[in-house]
Amino acid sequence: MTARAELTKNQLRVLERLEAATGPLSAYTLLDQLREYGFRAPLQVYRALDTLIKAGFVHRLESLNAFVACSDDHGHAHPHRMTAFAICDQCGQVAEFSDPLVGERLDAWVASTGFVTKKAVLEFRGTCAKCAAKAG
Ligand SMILES: [Zn+2]
Ligand SMILES: [Zn+2]
Repeated sequence: MTARAELTKNQLRVLERLEAATGPLSAYTLLDQLREYGFRAPLQVYRALDTLIKAGFVHRLESLNAFVACSDDHGHAHPHRMTAFAICDQCGQVAEFSDPLVGERLDAWVASTGFVTKKAVLEFRGTCAKCAAKAG
């Protein structure tokens, strides 16, 4: 498993951008923010993201095609088998939920059907508590 200390400069820069961001960022937004560091091609960003995702530092939000830093302890990465996200459509805030029990239950169910999983995505779209309170 990749530790933070093993990340390359480029990977660290991408990770730091995501950690500083208030919401998910697209690869192109990342590229724009990293041009001053010599990033020129989307491929450089995608390569860094790929490693960061595999190492568990970053998650890809499928429904937004954007990326967020893992909200777990950033000192050590541990990829979770099953992570759920609640994404606010109003303010873009993302909450991350990971529960080994829920993951095990879902794994067991999928395994019992003989299904072979490539990836699993759990994303809730809607309105966060803050925005719901404002609207109400
Ligand atoms: Zn995470
Ligand atoms: Zn919100």
